[in-house]
Amino acid sequence: MRKKSYLAAMNDLSPIATPDQPARQRKPEWIRVKAPTSKEFGATRDLMRGLGLNTVCEEAACPNIGECWSKKHATVMILGDVCTRACAFCNVKTGMPRAVDRDEPEHVAQAAAKLGLEHIVITSVDRDDLPDGGAGQFVKVIQALRRTTPGTTIEILTPDFRGRMLAAVEAIVAAGPDVYNHNLETVPRLYPTIRPGARYYASLRLLEEVKRHNPLIFTKSGVMLGLGEQRLEVHQVMDDMRVAGIDFLTMGQYLRPTPKHAAVEEFVTPQAFAAYGAIARAKGFLQVAASPLTRSSYHAGEDFAQMRSARAALLAKGAR
Ligand code: SF4
Repeated sequence: MRKKSYLAAMNDLSPIATPDQPARQRKPEWIRVKAPTSKEFGATRDLMRGLGLNTVCEEAACPNIGECWSKKHATVMILGDVCTRACAFCNVKTGMPRAVDRDEPEHVAQAAAKLGLEHIVITSVDRDDLPDGGAGQFVKVIQALRRTTPGTTIEILTPDFRGRMLAAVEAIVAAGPDVYNHNLETVPRLYPTIRPGARYYASLRLLEEVKRHNPLIFTKSGVMLGLGEQRLEVHQVMDDMRVAGIDFLTMGQYLRPTPKHAAVEEFVTPQAFAAYGAIARAKGFLQVAASPLTRSSYHAGEDFAQMRSARAALLAKGAR
């Protein structure tokens, strides 16, 4: 089946219907986005295509692509565009991926240099087929960026490296990213249906492990809301994240990429997102982003700068 374009997926106002869920939902007005038309948007797209790079912005049908690409902010997806898992929320193709592209690290670094990025976000598909789960390619990309654009701060958003997490985290942390992100995605009760190939506590453990190796690396994680989670379950996830020392929490509305994916159970209002954000701040996160259109990498550069300042202020007070 042909994948829906990001814009068609985003602005589709047709009611959402499944066999056991009658048509009843329309996207609320706070979810609608404008078509990307700017010159800069086209330039970002051409650069990525020219270097043969994939982006999660396109592959995940991200609603923010018009805004982000117009500001030359794209999230590069390394290790191909085919994932070895089939999560119920994700638009990325599933199957047997191709061989790892040896030129990819240099191409990512060239993209960062050409876009003049102060902050870059790198993510990947799951590569359960590789002996190291793809950790080595993350290391090579970080090294290439440090060589080519030493002033660019680096944020990585990794898979869970099932079965080889300890070695993967050790290698990646040693390469020295500024921010290590790994998304919990949803509450533990929904893992069997939404994220069947993953384990909630294994993901928490990964983030804990990053801090154990290097407490100076900022850790970040996110959840999607609207999948049927309960408010107190979300609060529990926040508490679990704080116990794991996670610095930055992102929360955004889940949007169904195609009718084959998990249904949207609820469109969480902007007010409810603001309330979650206030609770998260009270629980002690250094940085919180919570709104319907928040995604892991949305405004990542600005948020990183704020988080760094927040830590510096706390350190000056001797509190963190
Ligand atoms: S929010 Fe992230 S994934 Fe979405 S368009 Fe912006 S950079 Fe890309």
